[in-house]
Amino acid sequence: MLVVGGGIVGLCAALRLAERHPDQSILLIEKEGDVAAHASGRNSGVLHAGFYYTADSLKARFCREGNQRWHEWCDAHGLPVRRCGKLVVARSEADHASLDELTRRGAANGVPLEVITEADARAIEPSARTVGRALWSPTTSSVDPRAVAASVAASARAKGVDIRTGVAWTGARGRVVETSAGTCAPGRLLNCAGLHADRVAHAYDLATDVQIVPFKGLYLVADDDVPPLRCHVYPVPDLGMPFLGVHLTVTVDGHTKIGPTAMPAFWRENYGGLAGFSAAELTSVLWREAVLMARNPAFPKLAVDELAKADRTRLVARAGALVSGLRPEQWRTWGRPGIRAQLVDVRTHTLVMDFALADDGFGLHVLNAVSPAFTCALPIADHLVDRLSGAS
Ligand SMILES: Cc1cc2nc3c(=O)[nH]c(=O)nc-3n(C[C@H](O)[C@H](O)[C@H](O)COP(=O)(O)OP(=O)(O)OC[C@H]3O[C@@H](n4cnc5c(N)ncnc54)[C@H](O)[C@@H]3O)c2cc1C
Repeated sequence: MLVVGGGIVGLCAALRLAERHPDQSILLIEKEGDVAAHASGRNSGVLHAGFYYTADSLKARFCREGNQRWHEWCDAHGLPVRRCGKLVVARSEADHASLDELTRRGAANGVPLEVITEADARAIEPSARTVGRALWSPTTSSVDPRAVAASVAASARAKGVDIRTGVAWTGARGRVVETSAGTCAPGRLLNCAGLHADRVAHAYDLATDVQIVPFKGLYLVADDDVPPLRCHVYPVPDLGMPFLGVHLTVTVDGHTKIGPTAMPAFWRENYGGLAGFSAAELTSVLWREAVLMARNPAFPKLAVDELAKADRTRLVARAGALVSGLRPEQWRTWGRPGIRAQLVDVRTHTLVMDFALADDGFGLHVLNAVSPAFTCALPIADHLVDRLSGAS
């Protein structure tokens, strides 16, 4: 068995494969020098509760359980968890219909969630601003995503998984896999390559009607003398988009961050400057973004709105709609950006909302492992192992 990609999904899948099939040899290759170098180590570290997603989705199916299992994992492995909870606030009465819809989704997904008054919201986080009511999610927490990924990698290695960093999947010749360290002929291939998962799937003639379009998430980090918020504070999101809007999160070590943005990036690993630049990717991503601008009525507004958030003062002002007392001069530091591997359906020109899989009996390809795939990674891994074992 060959697993491509040492992000949280590949690591959890490799661990669960080793636990379920101790006699099987499992090789995980990761192109970077360490695991969790991309989204899995560059995210907000929020364990989502599971109330954003419609009950028929894989996100809903995995999120509540994933949240609970990471809490248990972190407790068992001595990793810190900040059990701070989250407020979803209304910026105007127009947000109430969406708050009600989130309440219904939470109930359908079996997620603890409370509708509270403005006064209750202020008792939880005194600076929170909400109009009329808010939602309180007590099970939303924060972890250190890199520490979690490192602990999964250590557990996988202890179970016999051969994790080789600095080795890239480079191509396919039938069932022979080409890597930067030579070829191999695994019985099955599990593609967890994040931002590159579509390229790997396309090499096997799968998922040719979808393409990953990268969306960059920038964060602003509060100065050290800004006291942390007591809980995460999020707006009511646009339920037609897979992004949650600018919000404030509290890191596991008690720093407050604003972000992440969801601005169209120009190539897959476009973190800053020319790092990770690829002319071929630039052309293909720009072309896809241009088609989205022309064919998806919601995309031009999203793109313009998001690109404006690269301006620090504007980003702080947006967050100021959710909590009072933010002073731009206390938010001068940009944090480590992350990039979402957002899948686009090239036939309908829409952003795919749910996780997606493609399987041809040899390769199982994980596509659109966007938020909350970190939270969901353990149940996703069980689902993948079931599929690879022919159990589902
Ligand atoms: C800004 C941001 C904030 C987020 N916040 C949250 C959050 O708070 N909570 C949450 O649950 N989720 C969050 N997410 C989503 C979450 O981080 C991802 O869904 C999750 O990390 C995806 O994991 P992955 O293993 O699929 O991908 P990745 O972590 O990207 O891993 C894929 C790996 O594959 C490797 N790879 C790629 N190509 C090859 C190749 N050819 N050969 C070998 N290796 C290869 C890459 O180097 C990479 O390490 C956030 C994401 C972003 C970008």
